[in-house]
Amino acid sequence: MLIVCNILQQIGVIGVTMKKRVTLTFPRNIVQMPLTYLLAKEFNVAANIIRAQVAPNQVGKLVLELSGDIDQLEAAIDWMKGQQIEVAITTGEIIIDEENCVHCGLCTGVCPTESLTLSPVTYKLQFRRQTCIVCEQCIPTCPVQAISSNL
Ligand code: SF4
Ligand code: SF4
Repeated sequence: MLIVCNILQQIGVIGVTMKKRVTLTFPRNIVQMPLTYLLAKEFNVAANIIRAQVAPNQVGKLVLELSGDIDQLEAAIDWMKGQQIEVAITTGEIIIDEENCVHCGLCTGVCPTESLTLSPVTYKLQFRRQTCIVCEQCIPTCPVQAISSNL
């Protein structure tokens, strides 16, 4: 099933789901906006609140983990910026524990960007960080929990 999803993502039939952690600063006039509801309704983006500092008539701060289709996420972020919300994106990274990895290659089958591959020469796992979109699909596939993220 995961392989089918991967193929469909690569040919654009279904989008790539990813997560982004963002810090939002609201102007006081929109501090009571039902933001998580609007993100879900308008963009199908789930917003998990990590930290909130919001009081009526004061500048508010929210740290959210957004997850959804990659294009919808970008659209939601653009929309928030258009609402005078300051958006700071916290970039996360995938971490491979090279001591634990047994180079089984299972994670390479789900990676939508081919950032994980097995070397045809050494048969060892290779990770291309520049193309990784931190979608986290590889994390649950690893039988020895050698993959994590700092998102
Ligand atoms: S390496 Fe993992 S997190 Fe990065 S794009 Fe591939 S599946 Fe997603
Ligand atoms: S699934 Fe885990 S053990 Fe297998 S190659 Fe990937 S990181 Fe290594």
